[in-house]
Amino acid sequence: MRKIIKKELLLEGKTKKIYATENPHEVIIHYKDSITALDGLKKDFLQDKGILNNEITTFIFKFLNSYGLKTHFIRRINNREQLCHKVDIIPLEFVVRNILSGSISKRLGVKEGTIPLNTIFEIFYKNDNLKDPLINDHHAVLLGLISYEELNITYRITSNINNILKKFFLDKNIILVDFKIEFGKDSKNQIFLSDEISPDTCRLWDKKTREKFDKDIFRSGFSEKVLDAYIEILKRLNVG
Ligand code: UDP
Repeated sequence: MRKIIKKELLLEGKTKKIYATENPHEVIIHYKDSITALDGLKKDFLQDKGILNNEITTFIFKFLNSYGLKTHFIRRINNREQLCHKVDIIPLEFVVRNILSGSISKRLGVKEGTIPLNTIFEIFYKNDNLKDPLINDHHAVLLGLISYEELNITYRITSNINNILKKFFLDKNIILVDFKIEFGKDSKNQIFLSDEISPDTCRLWDKKTREKFDKDIFRSGFSEKVLDAYIEILKRLNVG
């Protein structure tokens, strides 16, 4: 396997850093130990959280790759870093909800834990100044973030991912309540699933007890319990 040369820092986000490599089409993604919520207003540092999320995302992206789904993930380099295809992130968060929780409960006044008859798909505009507003397809096209054709593709992939992961997690006795994904485009305008899929970006409940194993633990103020929950997810992923 070729030696990857880590070059300059290209970008630092709330939970990840992105470095250039000697290959202009590939980057190194480094997972940090920070955890944030409420548009970055609530912050903490949890020793080794980055290691867990790197491992969990690696597991899930490899699994999705095995279904022929195009993701930015190439391989895990070490406990905190992955080699990925370089993409320009489309500044949209695609959210899928199988059970209602979080912002939708507040926005629409629906009870937490309600199971909707339809699967709910939402898009949010990634824009810190505007506080990541919920928008619709027409707004996204109006803003030049994505085309209608690309939305067709991204919704189709999002729905496939939901079907694959819902079943996958259920086999591990975990309910995939909701999740957020992001897409990027490479230099040839090909769309790749990007960013991460981890307990930072999903709601994951125990099938029997409905205990939470995700970032909601942090949102509720129990920082000290977050790592154990993420370790439990990793343990269940590795079983069976
Ligand atoms: N989510 C995320 N990043 C965000 C906003 C939401 O990963 O910036 C995830 C969140 O963890 C949950 C899903 O997207 O799994 C739906 O989040 P929601 O809209 O309910 O917002 P929240 O109440 O979590 O802020």
